[in-house]
Amino acid sequence: MKIKSAHLYRQVQPFSDGPYICRGQAEEGFDSCIVALEAEDGTVGWGEAAPLGAFYAEAFPEAMRAGIERLLPVTIGLSATAPARLADALNHAMLGQPSVKSAIDMAAWDLAARIMGCPLSDLLGGADGTSVPLYRSIGQTDPDAMARKAQDYVKRGYRRLQVKVGADPLEDVARMQAVRAAVPDDVPLYADANGGWLLEDALRFVDRTRDLDYWLEQPCMGYADNRTIARRCAKPMVLDEGLVTLEDLLHAHQDGVISGATLKIARIGGIGPTRLIRDVAVSLGLKVTIEDTGGSTINTAATAHMMLSTPTAQRAHTVDFMNWVTVQNATGMPETADGKLFGPSGSGLGICVDPDIFTD
Ligand SMILES: [Mg+2]
Repeated sequence: MKIKSAHLYRQVQPFSDGPYICRGQAEEGFDSCIVALEAEDGTVGWGEAAPLGAFYAEAFPEAMRAGIERLLPVTIGLSATAPARLADALNHAMLGQPSVKSAIDMAAWDLAARIMGCPLSDLLGGADGTSVPLYRSIGQTDPDAMARKAQDYVKRGYRRLQVKVGADPLEDVARMQAVRAAVPDDVPLYADANGGWLLEDALRFVDRTRDLDYWLEQPCMGYADNRTIARRCAKPMVLDEGLVTLEDLLHAHQDGVISGATLKIARIGGIGPTRLIRDVAVSLGLKVTIEDTGGSTINTAATAHMMLSTPTAQRAHTVDFMNWVTVQNATGMPETADGKLFGPSGSGLGICVDPDIFTD
């Protein structure tokens, strides 16, 4: 069976908790790209990718849309049940640009699984259990406000928190101290700088937070700086922005820099390439987080399938973007509860999308 048509839709997705502040930049929501691939029998596969503005990843909405529009004709006539071969065709047609390919790749995997009549997680190795722990991210603001937000998220059932740092290191120390004091000791905290510190900022932060219990995530953007910090700091370190290719993961592991890997589907280029890095990370004994740069229900369903097919013992946590934004783009995703994300039942992503909701 072949792919007979391909469409791109747009959905603007405002954040429900107000502007999201990261690396000193504020965004009001995601500007999402949604791809539909239709097979000859009428089955439709769905994919979604959304950058966070233009500053967060090497992607921005206007370029993502232009790139997808350019690539969609490449998919017509390809097998509807061979997502890796479709990825080959995309890579042949366009060098690099993983974020452009991500929603198309996701739709191809959803389409294949729907036609085969199995959940996407089955194609990725099979689900291990039924739920995945969620974290919630606390944007950078003054320490007291961050502490209050942390308490609110814990009250709402989230048991893992990410504290955004990466600004003035002494102010960041106050942020970590305030949040650590505001939530129970058994709530893991990740100090996530999103690569925002210079090396000396990161060294000052870790020297002044030796007594706090937390994980350190992507302190600096450059790999050599992060390696220096890992050698000076006893905290477990996770890389996120620095992991784009399998080679990045292997270097960081061989150098003893990381105990965990955060894999964002759109940064890596879709379900297929993320699965490759995930499987190697699992075999290396690393803890794995699979999430994305943005999106709503379709994207959250894909995240759920990728995390559920990662062995339970090696899952860190993930995000429920569908609950970060005020608009949904599918039905069929179970409600989150007790800080956990549950996978939908049914074939493919297990969700139902009505394209009439998209106005663009
Ligand atoms: Mg991160």
